[in-house]
Amino acid sequence: MVKLWKSKSWHLVALSSILWVTSGCVNPLTNASPQTGTIQMAQVSRQKIADQGDIRIVYVQPSDANFNAIYEALQDSLEFSVPQEKDGLIAQLNTKFAFPRDIIVSFQECGEANAFYDPEQVKIEMCYELLKQYTDILGEGNQSSEAYADEVIYSTLSTFFHELGHAFVDQYQLPITGLEENVVDEFAAVMLLELQDDDAVIAGIDQFDVDAEEEEKLKELPFWASHGLGAQRYYTVSCIIYGSNPDKFADFVTSGDLPQERANLCPVEYQRRERSWNFLLAPYRKATHPSKT
Ligand SMILES: [Zn+2]
Repeated sequence: MVKLWKSKSWHLVALSSILWVTSGCVNPLTNASPQTGTIQMAQVSRQKIADQGDIRIVYVQPSDANFNAIYEALQDSLEFSVPQEKDGLIAQLNTKFAFPRDIIVSFQECGEANAFYDPEQVKIEMCYELLKQYTDILGEGNQSSEAYADEVIYSTLSTFFHELGHAFVDQYQLPITGLEENVVDEFAAVMLLELQDDDAVIAGIDQFDVDAEEEEKLKELPFWASHGLGAQRYYTVSCIIYGSNPDKFADFVTSGDLPQERANLCPVEYQRRERSWNFLLAPYRKATHPSKT
């Protein structure tokens, strides 16, 4: 789903389901006018860049009181507090990576349950509507908000890292092949595993699992969409997680969630992704955090 080009049928699909909408996002190509077809081709550079920015979180006070609880919970969290606590994942990213300019992460009302990367403003928009949806889904069957507050943060982190993948591709002009949405799913998984946040990376596949269940109810699956289907995203990211440490994540296979036939390939699949992302991001890592070899 993109801001400048939204298919009617996908709009209906989105409204008719409770898709967790890791499906938002703006592809940088939408900056180009589809009428003129003029797309600025950036030169790919692998030179180190001056560190002239950080990931910065801002909050817009919600006008709808229904979002007050999520607004406060986010600001109380280790990960999304302002100012950023040094152990938070975003603080770690700012320590690890040089950015050519600030990447703003704006928690705000959007009018829809979604999340976007806006390449013109270099801004990630995290919609309260989406986070409220996480709260509602994860809160089903839970007595107290404390029981699932962490789960909401993990889901928010998972979506944030997907959007951050779009920001990395855009800001570093990373060369990619394949659907950008798939590429940034893989970025989110590899990066969260590097940062050792298993809960957030697993929250990501839980979202894809819900998407897959919702897609089973559809008459026509959106094969044409810019994202893979929920089930495909589920297995791709599950494979990356399992492949990163087959002993630690052995229950992915023993539970039957990840078929053995695919699991056999996952250690190599993970190693290739990790190697590729290390190569792509090496010029942008600060000297104190050299790329793993
Ligand atoms: Zn996306």
